[in-house]
Amino acid sequence: MKVKRAEKYGFCSGVRVADMKVRKFVASGGRGAILGQVVHNERVVEEMERLGMRTVDSIDEVTEPVIVFSAHGVPASYHERARARGLQVLDTTCRFVYDIHRESRRALEEGRHLVFMGDPNHREVIGYTHDLDPAVYHVLSTLEQAKEVDWSVYPAISIFYQTTLNTEDFEEAVRFIEASNPNTKRADTVCYATRENQHAARKLAEDPEVDLVLVIGGKHSANTRHLWEITSRIKPSHLIQGAADIRPEWLDGISCVGLTAGASTPDSIVDEVEAFLTGVREDSGASN
Ligand code: SF4
Repeated sequence: MKVKRAEKYGFCSGVRVADMKVRKFVASGGRGAILGQVVHNERVVEEMERLGMRTVDSIDEVTEPVIVFSAHGVPASYHERARARGLQVLDTTCRFVYDIHRESRRALEEGRHLVFMGDPNHREVIGYTHDLDPAVYHVLSTLEQAKEVDWSVYPAISIFYQTTLNTEDFEEAVRFIEASNPNTKRADTVCYATRENQHAARKLAEDPEVDLVLVIGGKHSANTRHLWEITSRIKPSHLIQGAADIRPEWLDGISCVGLTAGASTPDSIVDEVEAFLTGVREDSGASN
């Protein structure tokens, strides 16, 4: 079995920095709890727990002296709530997420209505919207949702994308808003790592030698799911968390597997999947 990796995949700079900050904190003897998964990868979360950094779902659950905010960011009010409980904050919010917090705040001050393209339940999007009056923003992901709103009533509109989206999927909805209100600006807020991983995943799937694509990443990782959406339009593709998820029947008649991974997938898991696939070849060679 031949294995080809995408030219770009896996850990982005934001996740690397978050991971490094938490490890440094632990190494220096710090005790803390992480609000939500530090990155959307179950293996990384398990490793953090082994290091003594438990994951909690709310600020009120924290009994340690420090709370860690993940790369996805949090609403500004969470910082105040943590301080009010006497907690210190280890903030690992990605700088690209902070850019959107800052730019959307500025747009709001200029009297613009905010539109966030993305998933209203994703922690990154909750970070942008939680503290806002619901009358000043919308979160959308489909053209149908865009059509339900009369955009002409707003004097001006600013559109932001959740950092890990595939913008092509939202183009129709964004164009609809732009056509309904000429005073609409869209901010190009999909981060560089997402774009590079998506571009490389598309190229990998288009490679004539690749029969099947395996996309490696966490169950809750939006950027991993978007990679899978891209490759599955071109080649048979499966979303896996690690080698254990690979079903033998997927590999029947396959001679070359393409591998890519979401921005929160450590290199070690990609190595493990590649080693497994190489082993499949050895096993089948032995049985022939
Ligand atoms: S995917 Fe992009 S926005 Fe998210 S943490 Fe990585 S670099 Fe930052």
